[in-house]
Amino acid sequence: MNRIAFFFLACLFLASCNDVDRVIGRDKKKPVTYSFSCIDSAVGGSSANKRLDKVGDLIRDIGVSEKSITDDVQSEYGREFHEQMIADGSFKLMKDAALQSKLEAMLASLLAKREKPSGIVYKIYALEDTVINAFTFGGRIYVTKAMLAKCAGKDDLLAAIIGHEIGHSEMGHIKATIQEIELSNKVFGEKTGATVFELKRFLTASANQKNELEADYYGINLTNELGYDVCTAVAFWKEMASNENRYSEVEDFFRTHPFSSLRAECLMNHIRTNFNRDCGGINKAASLPQVTK
Ligand SMILES: [Zn+2]
Repeated sequence: MNRIAFFFLACLFLASCNDVDRVIGRDKKKPVTYSFSCIDSAVGGSSANKRLDKVGDLIRDIGVSEKSITDDVQSEYGREFHEQMIADGSFKLMKDAALQSKLEAMLASLLAKREKPSGIVYKIYALEDTVINAFTFGGRIYVTKAMLAKCAGKDDLLAAIIGHEIGHSEMGHIKATIQEIELSNKVFGEKTGATVFELKRFLTASANQKNELEADYYGINLTNELGYDVCTAVAFWKEMASNENRYSEVEDFFRTHPFSSLRAECLMNHIRTNFNRDCGGINKAASLPQVTK
């Protein structure tokens, strides 16, 4: 089932894993605001991207109703996806009961902080995989062994990663993906539809930067509620922006997510606006954020 492997949103956090002080929770009276102006020039400014966005909207409008992709449908997609990937050997689960318990506890604590929780059924798995990666589909969240090694002892980062993946589901990104899968299959037949879908995803990769950022914001909000350090993700993206050549093992990911520096800047703005916290200058890419609270 290699085809379906293209259908989940691959979302990665390489680990810079910085130990910094934890931040006290934000003022609960102040609603969190999401701003995408920091990427407007990069994402919205391209006429080609705008055309592709419009085509995507049109396809969704005439094709598969958004309402038909219920939380139950998403969860079922996740269940089928998981079973197929295990059955054909694409995914090999780590056999570590203590690790699994820790991941499940962290997932549960993050889910408990959602303001308007969906009915999506969430599960989390550790994969035997040497590629540093994390991704989600249909409520199933996967973190690779290599990613977990990067995050050893760095729960701030691990929580941000899991929170990011939760964000993709809660913000409707996976729902939109499933809509496109169903429409492609419906219009072009399952085999051809998959090809069209993959092509469109490749072409619209830059437009997905907004989704990545939205998932970042969502995850950071959850981790902030739990008292984790919110600057960890910023430090991570800063380091990645300055060291992208080191991460050749995830070249495919960076082909579709080439905006580490911009992402760090957007996150830093989000944290400053919503949590009144300064995570440090964007140009100090190689240094850890020096935080006092
Ligand atoms: Zn992502």
